[in-house]
Amino acid sequence: MTDLVPGPVPPDDEDEFRRAAVAFLDAHARPAAPQAVGWGVGTDELAVGGEPGRDEELRLVHAAVTFRRELYDAGFGWLTGPVEWGGGGKGPRHQELFEQIVQDYEIPSETCFIVGHHIVGPTLVAWGTDEVKDRYLQAIYRGDLIACQLFSEPGAGSDLAGVRSRAERVAGGWLVTGQKVWTSGAHFSDIGEMLVRTDPGASKHGGLTMLVVDMHDPGVDVRPLKQMNGGEAFNEVFLDNVFVPDSHVLGRPGDGWKVAMTTLGNERSTIGFRFAPVATDEVERLAAMIEHFGLADDPVIRQAFAAIAIRKTTIRWMAARAARGLAAGGEPGPEASIIKLMDSVNVTAVGKLAGRILGPRMMADTGEWGTYVWADLLLSAPSRRLAGGTDEIMRNIMSERILGLPRDAQFNR
Ligand SMILES: Cc1cc2nc3c(=O)[nH]c(=O)nc-3n(C[C@H](O)[C@H](O)[C@H](O)COP(=O)(O)OP(=O)(O)OC[C@H]3O[C@@H](n4cnc5c(N)ncnc54)[C@H](O)[C@@H]3O)c2cc1C
Repeated sequence: MTDLVPGPVPPDDEDEFRRAAVAFLDAHARPAAPQAVGWGVGTDELAVGGEPGRDEELRLVHAAVTFRRELYDAGFGWLTGPVEWGGGGKGPRHQELFEQIVQDYEIPSETCFIVGHHIVGPTLVAWGTDEVKDRYLQAIYRGDLIACQLFSEPGAGSDLAGVRSRAERVAGGWLVTGQKVWTSGAHFSDIGEMLVRTDPGASKHGGLTMLVVDMHDPGVDVRPLKQMNGGEAFNEVFLDNVFVPDSHVLGRPGDGWKVAMTTLGNERSTIGFRFAPVATDEVERLAAMIEHFGLADDPVIRQAFAAIAIRKTTIRWMAARAARGLAAGGEPGPEASIIKLMDSVNVTAVGKLAGRILGPRMMADTGEWGTYVWADLLLSAPSRRLAGGTDEIMRNIMSERILGLPRDAQFNR
């Protein structure tokens, strides 16, 4: 067991907290450059768009880890985490305050930590043994370890309970063999939360177990997958007789489906409440483009744009309302699925409208500012319909949990 060395605890008082956060950021980050406004001003990159190549990605990971350690050591790295596992023990209000303050600064992208901090970390808090919590939580939030999510398989995506990777009982633990796919960030991850079949004789959902796997084990082979937007953010992962000790089982053997539900709930809340409401620049840029090309009076363009802008505003308001409910102690509910679905519908609509306005300029780089950059959005948008559960699965969740319709047939098998 490691000895936890908790960082300083930031003040509870909101004014003092704000002063402490500003003092930290003044010392460790640059003020954010003023946003360039208007068509043709500044860089034309969009937030929803292309991905860095692997060399650039490694540079970004390194910068993120360096900043994370400073952030954590100053007490701001895991504000809402339990104190006994290295968190700050604060409520969501302090987290929200910090996120508001940090917007005025330029800090490294934390994309490499999304899975660990928002999806795997909370699952370890809920289901991990004391050894797992002690060994990994502080390290994850300090950026010393990066975590990935080893769920999907070639035959198990939406039908996740169909996983065929298996773990066999051996003295003191389990031997894992199998294949995972679409694993974001596996190539720079240190540990993975992995769903495996441990009891082939049990029911489809009852024979599953969740494990924490060491990604540096010699039996783990990570192979990149190239995407149509040029990125290589995810991978195939092959595991061959990888030993996992009993202490690294989350919950009990056979609890894997319940643990997976916690993780998938975290994932949908993260996408729905944290990421969908931000990144409005594609909507603002679309408005600027419509003005620039003199289309503001075109009734068809106006109508399509109005639908996009209204949906985006609705997403933000719904996410704010859900976040208030969570802050008041509520459980994440199916509203995350509604927001996630609306977001993927909106990004798709944005790409279509941009294509309608730009025509071939979107597919051939003419050098004209703000045109070809939309190709990245168009090629990346489909991933929003899949990651974290597809649009159809979000519709199934809404129909069952909100409308009370009969359960999806696959769960009755
Ligand atoms: C950017 C991105 C990052 C990802 N990162 C990870 C990761 O880190 N770890 C991980 O484990 N996975 C990851 N995934 C995989 C993701 O979870 C799966 O792609 C998703 O669950 C869908 O599974 P599938 O691709 O196997 O499609 P399938 O499940 O085979 O679905 C194919 C089609 O059938 C439809 N369909 C399937 N079942 C039903 C049903 N019951 N009712 C109605 N329609 C249905 C689907 O909606 C879809 O249109 C990632 C995916 C993307 C795009």
